[in-house]
Amino acid sequence: MTDLTKKYGTMVFSDHVMKQRLPSDTYKKLAETIKEGKPLDLDVANSVAHAMKEWAIEHGATHFAHWFQPLTGITSEKHDAFLDPIGNGTAITKFSGKELIQGEPDASSFPNGGLRATFEARGYSAWDPTSYAFVKDEVLCIPTAFCSYTGEALDKKTPLLRSMAVIDEQSKRVLALFGKHPAKVTVNVGTEQEYFLISEKDYARRQDLMMCGRTLFGAPPCKGQELDEHYFGAIRPTVNDFMKELDDVLWGFAVAAKTKHNEVAPAQHELAPVFCNANRAIDENLLTMEMMKLLASHHGLVCLQHEKPFEGINGSGKHNNWSIGSEDENLLDPGDTPEENLQFLVFLTCVIAAVDDYQDLLRMSVASCGNDHRLGGHEAPPAIISIFLGDELSDIIEALAAGHEAGHAVRESLDFGVAVLPTFDRDTTDRNRTSPFAFTGNKFEFRMPGSSVNVADANTMLDTAVAKALKDFADAMEARGDEPFEVAALSYIRKSLSEHKRILFSGDGYSEEWHEEARRRGLCDFTTTADALPSFVAQKNIDLLSEMGVLSETEVRSRYEVKLEKYNKLMNIEATTMERMARRTYLPVISAYATKIAKGITTVTDAMPAAGMQHERRELSTLLDGVSAIYEGIDALSELHAKAKACECAQEQANCYAHEVAPAMDRLRAAVDAMEPIVAREYWPVPTYDDLLFYV
Ligand code: ADP
Ligand code: MG
Repeated sequence: MTDLTKKYGTMVFSDHVMKQRLPSDTYKKLAETIKEGKPLDLDVANSVAHAMKEWAIEHGATHFAHWFQPLTGITSEKHDAFLDPIGNGTAITKFSGKELIQGEPDASSFPNGGLRATFEARGYSAWDPTSYAFVKDEVLCIPTAFCSYTGEALDKKTPLLRSMAVIDEQSKRVLALFGKHPAKVTVNVGTEQEYFLISEKDYARRQDLMMCGRTLFGAPPCKGQELDEHYFGAIRPTVNDFMKELDDVLWGFAVAAKTKHNEVAPAQHELAPVFCNANRAIDENLLTMEMMKLLASHHGLVCLQHEKPFEGINGSGKHNNWSIGSEDENLLDPGDTPEENLQFLVFLTCVIAAVDDYQDLLRMSVASCGNDHRLGGHEAPPAIISIFLGDELSDIIEALAAGHEAGHAVRESLDFGVAVLPTFDRDTTDRNRTSPFAFTGNKFEFRMPGSSVNVADANTMLDTAVAKALKDFADAMEARGDEPFEVAALSYIRKSLSEHKRILFSGDGYSEEWHEEARRRGLCDFTTTADALPSFVAQKNIDLLSEMGVLSETEVRSRYEVKLEKYNKLMNIEATTMERMARRTYLPVISAYATKIAKGITTVTDAMPAAGMQHERRELSTLLDGVSAIYEGIDALSELHAKAKACECAQEQANCYAHEVAPAMDRLRAAVDAMEPIVAREYWPVPTYDDLLFYV
């Protein structure tokens, strides 16, 4: 046991290490910065930098790096050695406060959506002291925010931190109305990371996996996930070894990896850490994803983090468990006493209002090329956003929205001016796995984000929308005049719920009827990234983000461009890979196999003219039909692909990819996949789904 706990956090410059290693006044000043966001002066930074360097070198570091999250969604780092030659053939180690606080990576190659001309290539990375620095592979990694010379955010962390600040500010205003004054309200996040593991040897033989992270071709395996035997099943020994190493490494980074298990699809797994504040949780998730990829290679495996590596079986998501709270209480906890219920109902109502008002923005925040294959698929939430509250809470909310008492569910005693609501039995059982946004006892679980993305985007939008709803509530209450607070709050809740109840849905999110019902309710249903992205630049969303100080209009527009560009580039890579594989990988072998059968027919009928060979002839004809279908598929795809590439407007190009190129890709795939079960195994040029998913 002691060994286990001793390992935990050894590779992070944690609060515990800081307390031990920093002079006590430095520690105090740094703690104030971390807790209250006070600026750090250079003397303190110098002192922290020195201690950090000494600690890092003891832990094997030779370099330091500002570790940041550019808009690509992947982390970036540039390494600088601690060594500094002093001119006589020797060197000292050096790491100053300035180097800790600010870096100047050449940022010209990072996506910026037109924010920076390349001649003004400088970007600044600024230390984020609220997330721990860590030593990874002999490098001291310092979590940083990344912005342009003119101060615009060029990363995902900066808007996330801004959104957490507005939640803090607005929640405190609301809590003040309840007579509570916590020092800080923070957003807590727990990410459940799904992923696939396949063998490195198989991976290396599939150009689609190597180029796109997903299979562009592949007939269904003999056995898929229909037996439900993989979920929570015994873990393969190789996978188990991988998971053990992963846990060890993550624990070293103070990532509280808690739960690991096999997922529903064969070769699919999940890891969930213990939740923590959103900023750190996202840094941890990015580190976890990086470690998964790296450590898989130690075991002859490849970790696929794409949202839909395999057609016909489940894809991978990253459930984003989200709550807000102060040090003393979780504000989404229904609580046990009526007074707390009113406070809970205020926060719940604000979340409901926020998700309804900004459903398009939330949908946009999870849109990605990979996620297009997942949302609306059988296992994942649909592309329509709705909220599931659970039975008991639904009854109460519906009664409040309708303005009447629902049996014993809502009791009120307005003569005292106090809303007396019943205590809730906390409904922790989540009986609706089809909901994209489900209340699970004392938190919301946003299930739409894809497995490969940085969930900073989703959290930034969610935080900002909720902060706005809290602000509207606080504004209304502060202007309520003589009306008792509880009465005003309750009538605000009723009105808001009746306006937003269309977003609540407890039925089957996969069903056809829900799509119709959602249309009737006026909910948005964007099936592809191309359809979802324009919401980012809708005026009401630009207003929200700029009013709340999370993203300026320029920042929003640049991010929209970056997202479009990324989508178009990925679609281009997929279409190109597909054309190339169809032509160079599949056609030659299908033709060769057809030729072999044709030769067999000729040889046999030469030797024995009476032989009918009708089965062989039929097989040959199927193969030849298949070959022409593939040729036609390639031609059709090439033509539409060329059309997409010729579009000058990025949004038009995205539309063309989503609505013309993608269907042509599906048709070409179908033509190739139809050949797979009839071509001899030794001819087939790539590992099949059976090989990929059921390895030993
Ligand atoms: P599931 O039933 O969805 O598979 P898991 O137990 O795998 O749930 O994961 C739940 C995740 O939610 C964990 O990361 C957990 O730490 C996190 N979580 C629990 N409580 C909260 C909370 N109050 N706020 C945010 N996240 C939370
Ligand atoms: Mg979950």
